[in-house]
Amino acid sequence: MAFDTHAAANPLAPEWLAVPGDANALHPGLWSRTVERRDGELVVGGVSAAELAARYGTPVYIVDEVDARERATEVRSALVGAFERVGGSAKVYYAGKAFLSIEVARWMSEAGLNIDVCSGGELAVAVAAGVAPERLGFHGNNKSLAEIDRAVSLGIGAIIIDSVQEIERVAEAAARHGRVQSVRLRVNSGVHAHTHAFLATAHEDQKFGIGLAAAADAAARIRSHASLNFLGLHCHIGSQIFGADGFAESAARLLAVHTELLAGGPVPELNLGGGFGIAYTSVDDPTPIEELAETIAQTVAAGCAELGIPLPVVAFEPGRAIIGRAGLTLYTAGTTKDVPVAFQDDGETAIRRYVSVDGGMSDNARLALYGADYSVRIAGRQSVAPAELVRIAGKHCESGDIVVDADYLPGDVAPGDLLAVPATGAYCWSLASNYNHVGRPAVIAVRDGASRVIVRGETEHDLLMRDAAYEGADA
Ligand code: PLP
Repeated sequence: MAFDTHAAANPLAPEWLAVPGDANALHPGLWSRTVERRDGELVVGGVSAAELAARYGTPVYIVDEVDARERATEVRSALVGAFERVGGSAKVYYAGKAFLSIEVARWMSEAGLNIDVCSGGELAVAVAAGVAPERLGFHGNNKSLAEIDRAVSLGIGAIIIDSVQEIERVAEAAARHGRVQSVRLRVNSGVHAHTHAFLATAHEDQKFGIGLAAAADAAARIRSHASLNFLGLHCHIGSQIFGADGFAESAARLLAVHTELLAGGPVPELNLGGGFGIAYTSVDDPTPIEELAETIAQTVAAGCAELGIPLPVVAFEPGRAIIGRAGLTLYTAGTTKDVPVAFQDDGETAIRRYVSVDGGMSDNARLALYGADYSVRIAGRQSVAPAELVRIAGKHCESGDIVVDADYLPGDVAPGDLLAVPATGAYCWSLASNYNHVGRPAVIAVRDGASRVIVRGETEHDLLMRDAAYEGADA
């Protein structure tokens, strides 16, 4: 049955947000692939939102296992296939910073992906998942000596060197362990990309990597150590990128330096990082990964041909493009407030409905951190009530504690309604905090009508047990 909740546009809505014909509809680009409505209720992995909420409480992160596994395979095949078609090869790392648990590390590994970690903690998760150390890459602009030592002693596949000082640190650790450690050198190509725009500069003012102009000296220094094996350059140009232009520009800049470095010895690889974008709202339109992969592969192949150099193995580190859409967050609506907001100089107002939920910036910091947009739907039912503009606020003591800045929901949205926010699989749980002493929610995997906890939620007791003054604390 088709629902028509079409209503007049609210002047407070952002320009890009149209009033939906049906504010219950699940835009196919936003939700994981097993999400559907059954008898009006949102169902994911064959499990209804109400059942998930009743069993695990809200807020709760839900991960669609089929979606995550299939997307991992698709992203890998797209990149590997595109490079094979131009006579080369690609290596794909899952960027664990997007979301990492032992279970998810296993899904990625089983899909044939390597894993990129950027802290001792992420390394510990990947190792606990049984991922072979040689399939791991280790990032970070300030790895501790202990982290470097651990990575080297484990026999990690690659350490991404982020500074000149780190060359000596890794070389020393490798020599001490009697190993030859493979390393990449992280450089700034001067290209910054976000969504459809990219900015190219000669110099970068940022903490990661070293400038391209310094790459030759750094590579020579790496090569001067018998305990290091130089794999090649690494560059990550940004996140939530919708087109191939930024990658192409960055690859061109990197290949020029890569070619210079070939004069001093082999450079078997080139790592172009991650950053492939996903849709968070109905107007987001990322280029499909297959198309991006094709364009990047052809650009790199053409660049190498022009420079007269062999195609290196090209590595990628996608995170969000694999796990972002597999996740959704379920919340329960609490209070609602209709706030008159002036939208014109003469004081004319319109109503913005604030719907507060039982989570917020502690489980999704992305809007507070960088103004990210999200969408929302009522998950427990459908409604024919005319659509109203809503803002989904959290429960924290911070006016910037907003989860969804603007979307339309059926106007009868009310306390007790179960709400679902799609595309929260990446950088939500991994950025979660205990702000206001709120425990981080559980992560639940769903598949074929069954659900299970893959990361336990935190309780008040967990938090109190870390407080040294609490009786019986294990602090
Ligand atoms: N690689 C590096 C070095 C990164 O810094 C990041 C994200 O910050 C990624 C890969 C993953 O990016 P995304 O999840 O946008 O693909």
